[in-house]
Amino acid sequence: MSNNREMKRRCREKKPELYAATQRAWYLKNKERCLAASKKHREDNREKYDVYSKKYREANRDKCSLAVKASRQKLMMEFVNEYGGSCRCCGEEELSFLTIEHSLHDPPRNPSGLRITAYAELRRLKKSGWPKDKGIYVLCYNCNCSTQIIGTMCAHKSASNRHSILMACAP
Ligand SMILES: [Zn+2]
Ligand SMILES: [Zn+2]
Repeated sequence: MSNNREMKRRCREKKPELYAATQRAWYLKNKERCLAASKKHREDNREKYDVYSKKYREANRDKCSLAVKASRQKLMMEFVNEYGGSCRCCGEEELSFLTIEHSLHDPPRNPSGLRITAYAELRRLKKSGWPKDKGIYVLCYNCNCSTQIIGTMCAHKSASNRHSILMACAP
C-alpha cells in the first residue's frame, strides 16, 4: 500500500502531465462512483464542509456574489427559453424585465407560509423538467402588474385601460 503510494508520488513529481492525464482518464471511467463517493463524504462531514464554505465565501465575497448572479441569470435564461422566449403578452425579450406568471395557482410557498423566491421556484421547475401543464408563463413586469391590477388579463389585451379604471373608481 505504502509502496503504491510512493510510486504514485514519484510519478506525480517526475511526469506531472502523464499523472494528471491518467488520473483524469480514471475519473472519467469511474465518474459515477467518484461523484457518489464525494457526495457521501460531504454528507458524512457536513459540519466541516459548512465551516469551510462559510470561510471561503467570506474570503471571496465578490467572486461568490458574481458567481451567484451569473448562475441566477443562466437559470432565468433557461426558464425564458423553455417557456416561449419572451413576454407572452407584449413580446418583451429583455431578460431583466421578465417574470414568472402563475395563471392557474398562486406562487408556491414554503412550509411557514412565506412565498419562495423566484430563483427557488425556478430551481424547482428545472428539477421537474420544466413542466408545461402548470399554467406557468413568461410575462414582463409591466404585463404581470397590469394582469394583477385588472385581475384576468393585461391592459394590452383587455378593454380596461387607465380611463375605464378611473371611471370605475369615481364616486
Ligand atoms: Zn409584456
Ligand atoms: Zn401586456
